[in-house]
Amino acid sequence: MNLQEFVAKKYDKTIAACSNEELYCALLEMSKEASGQKPTNDSKKKVYYISAEFLIGKLLSNNLINLGLYDDVKAELAEAGKDLIEIESMELEPSLGNGGLGRLAACFLDSIATLGLNGDGVGLNYHFGLFKQVFKDNQQFTEPNEWITDESWLTPSTRSYQVPFAHFDLVSTLYDIDVPGYKTATKNRLRLFDLGSVDSSLIHDGINFDKTNILKNLTLFLYPDDSDRQGELLRIFQQYFMVSNAAQLLIDEATEKGSNLHDLADYAVVQINDTHPSMVIPELIRLLTERGIELDEAIEIVKSMTAYTNHTILAEALEKWPLDFLEEVVPHLVPIIKELDRRIKEQGLADSVQIIDESGRVHMAHMDIHYGYSVNGVAALHTDILKTSELKPFYDLYPEKFNNKTNGITFRRWLMHCNSSLTHYLDQLLGGDYHHDASALEEFLNFKDDAAVKDKLESIKFHNKRKLQRFLEAHQGVTINPDSIFDIQIKRLHEYKRQQMNALYVIHKYLDIKAGNIPARPLTVFFGGKAAPAYTIAQDIIHLILCLSELIAKDPEVAPHLQVVMVENYNVTAASFLIPAADISEQISLASKEASGTGNMKFMLNGALTLGTEDGANVEIHELVGDENIYVSGKDSETVIDLYANNGYVSREFYEQDAIKPLVDFIVSDEVVALGNKERLERLHNELIVKDWFMTLLDLEDYIKVKEEMLADYEDRSSWLEKVIVNTSKAGFFSSDRTIAQYNEDIWKLG
Ligand SMILES: *Cc1c(COP(=O)(O)O)cnc(C)c1O
Repeated sequence: MNLQEFVAKKYDKTIAACSNEELYCALLEMSKEASGQKPTNDSKKKVYYISAEFLIGKLLSNNLINLGLYDDVKAELAEAGKDLIEIESMELEPSLGNGGLGRLAACFLDSIATLGLNGDGVGLNYHFGLFKQVFKDNQQFTEPNEWITDESWLTPSTRSYQVPFAHFDLVSTLYDIDVPGYKTATKNRLRLFDLGSVDSSLIHDGINFDKTNILKNLTLFLYPDDSDRQGELLRIFQQYFMVSNAAQLLIDEATEKGSNLHDLADYAVVQINDTHPSMVIPELIRLLTERGIELDEAIEIVKSMTAYTNHTILAEALEKWPLDFLEEVVPHLVPIIKELDRRIKEQGLADSVQIIDESGRVHMAHMDIHYGYSVNGVAALHTDILKTSELKPFYDLYPEKFNNKTNGITFRRWLMHCNSSLTHYLDQLLGGDYHHDASALEEFLNFKDDAAVKDKLESIKFHNKRKLQRFLEAHQGVTINPDSIFDIQIKRLHEYKRQQMNALYVIHKYLDIKAGNIPARPLTVFFGGKAAPAYTIAQDIIHLILCLSELIAKDPEVAPHLQVVMVENYNVTAASFLIPAADISEQISLASKEASGTGNMKFMLNGALTLGTEDGANVEIHELVGDENIYVSGKDSETVIDLYANNGYVSREFYEQDAIKPLVDFIVSDEVVALGNKERLERLHNELIVKDWFMTLLDLEDYIKVKEEMLADYEDRSSWLEKVIVNTSKAGFFSSDRTIAQYNEDIWKLG
């Protein structure tokens, strides 16, 4: 059935006579019917990708593409004078993730389905997900992000499980979201567990709520504030609810297919995405022993079916739950965790690899490594650092468990959907092979000296800048200049990602223009990203960026040459407008601190050049494109790791330098303070001078120098566009189809 027939049946109208809202509902229903008709993959062994986050983004276009309906629907709509982009704006973006880790999980679901592998995502159905960011008085405020509407992608399931806690049992409900692969015969699902009694009337004053009322708050928010004890306990409630449901689901599905539980590992493999799902290990052991399997065997079974992905080397992100917190929430798991710990202690191993430490805290990652069969990092450098420093004692014990899986992105969303102009042009030049085999993009290299191709790329980029211009007008009332260079840094706000370094560049540029050095071409610096509500310095950085944006916009000497835009509520939707419009991709984390990054891959694919440190997957981008086609600055990871080891970095020494001091001091200048909050600006100023834990000032001068070189190079359009072609051509390696094929070959081994 085509859209016209569907609409006629549903509304008894023509497409042209329908409102955008009606068309959205019709397309949603039509897609759900199409994926509903696909059978689930029924092969014997299945992967359960358990994750606290799935940052799936809007699904309409993506599902239409994967179901093979996109081009026809778009044509039918166009014929009736309707625009798919406007219809899509009716859809609310599911708010089930926070950043890269959650977006990775979403790309992986797309690739698992596309490769025809049997695998579901398992997580929680947070009613308000991550908070919505709004700006007022040049500061970030937080609001609940309502995304579930009557018409949605969620399909209620009849599965339901009893989950035991210390003082009560909870009974779950389950919602499924279909995950159709790209033109595949079968589909997978995202399984989101929920609790019927959750009640939004608990929320007051933004995103505050009663943290003690578990029956009413359990699935309200993703990452509720955990700065107090009640908040930490709630996180444990959420995590256990997620993994107990996942474990019961996988045991049920395996037994339905004929497992006698002794052979459970032939039916199921669990990928533990970061440490949030780590309690699945003791929970599976508990459930197996409850079903009559001896403890020793249960431990062996679980060991052969759980694999852990490490996403970070930031110590504060490796979860350690105090035993007495676990005792309070899930007392029935504690004896199992103690037994797992006893078996390690019995071997007389070093303190650094114990599960329960001297102060009675349970190191979740340590449990994963001892009692799973695979540990992977997410980029070559990251895995190296895990092996040689962060997890070295574990690597010495279990070298065979360690492996690298460099992250990837799905090209369906991050090229075909977000950049349809470039996609059509590539189809024309290369044919469609690259849709299924991303390495076929390399053929684009043949056009690197072709002037007509470069002209066309230039016009596609301009078209994408206009699209972004319309998006920002509509969503934020900001006007941008599509004739300027688009320099973009979009990612969660964190000191290690160093948005503050980019802000100091903006100050440098502002002062330079004030001094009469007018740039060859206007520059627009875009930022986007949320700061965790309890992360004060990150909010101070947002505040500085917003103040600079206002200062520059109001300065008639500078505004024609420089603009700063902080995009409000950065999410997948905003990313899909920003990335195709970018000239410069800012990837300037302190070397060794960004495990991989995936934003860097999206930009490269869409023809932006990377301005980056030798960190995470930037290192692999550099290797693929060569020195000529990337702009690298800053100290390398070895130098940085040494500086930490020897306490060798003193930010004040850098601050005192003539080139740096005026830039840092501008943060607390009269002009900026007049637009902002003095306390915030002074705190940030002081932080940079006395601490600067992520070494902003160490790399600042080199960063400014390389960025100026890059801006100068932009003026040689032919040479710049040659670099653009090389970048897009070499991006095939970063397809998540490649990543997932490797997970399957090395870890999951699905039939
Ligand atoms: C890709 C993506 C990220 C991850 O970006 P990094 O630059 O790798 O940190 C975060 N948020 C959204 C919305 C994304 O699409």
